[in-house]
Amino acid sequence: MEILIEGVSKQFEGFAALKPLDLAIPSGQLVALLGPSGSGKTTLLRLIAGLLPVDAGQVLFGGRDATRLSLRQRKVGFVFQHYALFPHMSVFENIAFGLRVRPRAQRPKEAEITAKVDRLLSLVQLAALRDRLPAQLSGGQRQRVALARAMAIDPTVLLLDEPFGALDAKVRFELRQWLRTIHDETGFTTIFVTHDQEEALDLADRVVVMNEGRIEQDGSPDSVYSTPASAFVFDFLGRSNQIFGEVSDGVFRAPGLANAIAVNDCRAGPASLFTRPHDIALASMGSGLRAKVAAVHRLAGRVSLDVTIEGQDRSLLVDVPGHGVARPPARGEQVGLELRQYRIFAMPPL
Ligand code: ATP
Repeated sequence: MEILIEGVSKQFEGFAALKPLDLAIPSGQLVALLGPSGSGKTTLLRLIAGLLPVDAGQVLFGGRDATRLSLRQRKVGFVFQHYALFPHMSVFENIAFGLRVRPRAQRPKEAEITAKVDRLLSLVQLAALRDRLPAQLSGGQRQRVALARAMAIDPTVLLLDEPFGALDAKVRFELRQWLRTIHDETGFTTIFVTHDQEEALDLADRVVVMNEGRIEQDGSPDSVYSTPASAFVFDFLGRSNQIFGEVSDGVFRAPGLANAIAVNDCRAGPASLFTRPHDIALASMGSGLRAKVAAVHRLAGRVSLDVTIEGQDRSLLVDVPGHGVARPPARGEQVGLELRQYRIFAMPPL
C-alpha cells in the first residue's frame, strides 16, 4: 500500500508539533522516522495511523483519501512501545483479537482464525508459548506478540512507535534483525519511529530525519549518513566532530587548520567543518590539522584519541585503527591530522 502525505500539519495548543510536510512512501518500503525527542515523529505516525486528526493536509492510502478515516477503517496495524497486550488473554487470544471483533459477516471461521494465528505464531517464533499470558513472557517476546497481533488483521500498513524502546540493547539488536527478516517475508509497507540512529540505519530501506516538526532529510541510510544535508543531520547521525571557522573568498579557514579548504556551496560567514572520528587519519605534522593528544582510549579493536586544537574550544575524537598500531601517540604528544572526509556548513558556533 502506497502512502502519500500532502501538506499535513499539527498544532497542540498553538505549538506547531508538525509544520506542513509532504512524504511519499511506496508500497513495501521499510521506513524509519528518526529524530530527537520532541521532533514530531510520533505525531506524524499517529496522523498516518488515524489516531490523531490532521489540522490541514491530506493522507492518502493507495491513492484514496484516508484523511477522515479511523485507524480501523484504514486497516492499520499499530504496535505501541509498551506492548499494550490484553493481560488476561493468552498469546493466542491476543493475536486472534482483531479477527474476533470483526462484524459477524466479515469474521473468519474459527478454523481459519486458528490456522492464521498458528501461522503468525510460527512466523514470530512463539508457537511454543501460545497458551501463556503476557505476564509470563519477556519484553522481547511480548513485542513479538504485539507485532503478530498487528499483522493478524492483514493490515494495509504496519506502523510501529519505538517498538524496541523499552528493551535492553542485546534484545533490541536481535529484534531488529528479526523485524527485517519478517518484513522481507511479508512485504508490508512499514513505518517505525525511533530516536536510535543505529537502529534506523541498520534496519530501514529509507530514513526520514526529523527535527523541530520538519523533515530535515529523507533518503537511503547510506545517503543520509554519508552526505548529510545539514549540520543537524551530520551531528545527529553517528559520532561527529566540529571545527569552527569562517568562509570567505570561497575558502574555509579555521584555527588549527594549516591550509584553507576550498568550498563551493557555502555562503560567506561563520561556518563549521564536520567530520567523523574514522574519517580523520594521523599524518605528518604541517599538513591538515595541528593537534595535541589529551587522552588515549583503548576500546575493543580500536584506539581513539581525544585531541585538542589551539583556538578551538571543543576537542576532537580521532579513531586510530587498533591493529598494527604498535605505538599510538601518547598523551601530551603533538600530532598532525589529515581530514579524509568532511562537510562544511554555514552556521554560527553552536
Ligand atoms: P519522543 O521521541 O520523545 O516521543 P517525538 O519526536 O515522537 O518525541 P512527538 O511526540 O511527536 O515527538 O511530539 C512533538 C511535540 O508535540 C513535542 O514538543 C510534544 O511535547 C508535543 N505534543 C505531542 N503530543 C501532544 C499533546 N497531546 N498535547 C500537547 N503537546 C503535544
